[in-house]
Amino acid sequence: MTKGRMESVEVFTSEGKGRGLKAQKEFLPGDVIFAEPAYAAVVFDSLTHVICHTCFKRQERLHRCGQCKFAYYCDRTCQRAAWLNHKNECSAIKKHGKAPTENIRLAARIMWKIEREGSGLGEGCLVSIDDLQNHVDSLGEEEKKELRADVESFLEFWPPQSQQFGMQYISHIFGVISCNGFTLSDQRGLQAVGVGIFPNLCQANHDCWPNCTVIFNNGNHEAVRSMFHTQMRIELRALSKISPGDELTVSYVDFLNVSEERRKQLKKQYYFDCTCEHCKKHIKDDLMLAVKEGESKPSAETVKEVIQFSKDTLEKINKARMEGLYHEVVKLCRECLKKQEPVLGDTNIYLLRILSVASEVLSYLQMFEEAADYAKRMVDGYLKIYHPNNAQLGMAVMRAGVTHWHAGLIEAGHGLICKAYAILLITHGPSHPITKDLEVMRVQTEMELRMFQQNEYMYYKMREAALKNQKIQVMPEPSNEASPSLFHKKE
Ligand SMILES: [Zn+2]
Ligand SMILES: [Zn+2]
Ligand SMILES: [Zn+2]
Repeated sequence: MTKGRMESVEVFTSEGKGRGLKAQKEFLPGDVIFAEPAYAAVVFDSLTHVICHTCFKRQERLHRCGQCKFAYYCDRTCQRAAWLNHKNECSAIKKHGKAPTENIRLAARIMWKIEREGSGLGEGCLVSIDDLQNHVDSLGEEEKKELRADVESFLEFWPPQSQQFGMQYISHIFGVISCNGFTLSDQRGLQAVGVGIFPNLCQANHDCWPNCTVIFNNGNHEAVRSMFHTQMRIELRALSKISPGDELTVSYVDFLNVSEERRKQLKKQYYFDCTCEHCKKHIKDDLMLAVKEGESKPSAETVKEVIQFSKDTLEKINKARMEGLYHEVVKLCRECLKKQEPVLGDTNIYLLRILSVASEVLSYLQMFEEAADYAKRMVDGYLKIYHPNNAQLGMAVMRAGVTHWHAGLIEAGHGLICKAYAILLITHGPSHPITKDLEVMRVQTEMELRMFQQNEYMYYKMREAALKNQKIQVMPEPSNEASPSLFHKKE
């Protein structure tokens, strides 16, 4: 690769929309358009001791850096790989007495990289760090205050023997972080664990119905890690067929919201008005607000009432969930479903949101049969709303499959796991840890299904014995986070 160029894509500038990415050749669903290692990345403050600072995997036992006693790593390999980026940070933390917050650490890592390599275009880079957007001019008073505080903390942390930068440049870097910081997740995709800067990726514009997706891959421990493709990286992957010259787009927000709400969110977090086809024509809004059809069609008044009740309940649910009161969550969900069922259509997003929480929490409580019933209805709704190759859809189908499997519904469970596997092959790729987990489950459920078809009685006997001997695998605790935004933003 040469500087400022890539074979697969190019940067273009259009009036009104600014910069964007354009395909230089044809891509098919699942193709990796490009992979990009982080320019700089850090673990969130609250997780610095449970997540590896090199590969961002969650691990049971991590090794602590003996020097600063702040950084943690899976093993020697991860520690060695980190040294180039950690060396300066390590001695600065020792000198400072404690580690600064994530924003300051990320800015410092960027600055040390600039000190080493300069701020110009590096290998395989389409834009330089100097050229990234910062939105400093459109900040509100409150945000400007935060920026000034960040710059001050940075100056306190930054060692005098390192290259010195002007105030304006430091502000630019903090601006870059706040509008381009990409959310990194752990290897199971369950939790947002850090933030990184990927200059090429952030050239991709938003579309609510995009032709690409971006996925974070924590890399592979077993493979030789000196090879580029085994390092932690993001991948821009094609979701549909793309022709040379087509603009490459990703979605910055979850599609499961009516166009008006998505546009509000995009304006607030990313400072632009979405003009995509789906927003302009309000495509799928009708499905997301669907009302029961037929003779007993509810009045507009009743619909309004139920929607308000759903919104209030979702707030209560969030609160109960945060406090770990899962039985209370289940009670609230059941009550809400009773109100919703005679009024809202099967694809109504307020119904789907309750079904999603209910199935997740009931699985955690090991009430798998009721959970499976809700999960099935949720997936049926999602399939009508989401793009067929949507990562969120794939993950939801996977959860539903596992729930069915645990409920002993092996046929439906295997079917859902196969469906999820097909989606994740495109959105995550075959080497992603989640796809690999799914592959194992696919083989296991296929074997169980064959056993079930040959001898149902024996299957249940064996299942019973297996359940007695070994506690059924507990589902992960439901997370309190809403599905994370693509880019790391304050709400
Ligand atoms: Zn690691
Ligand atoms: Zn250290
Ligand atoms: Zn849109």
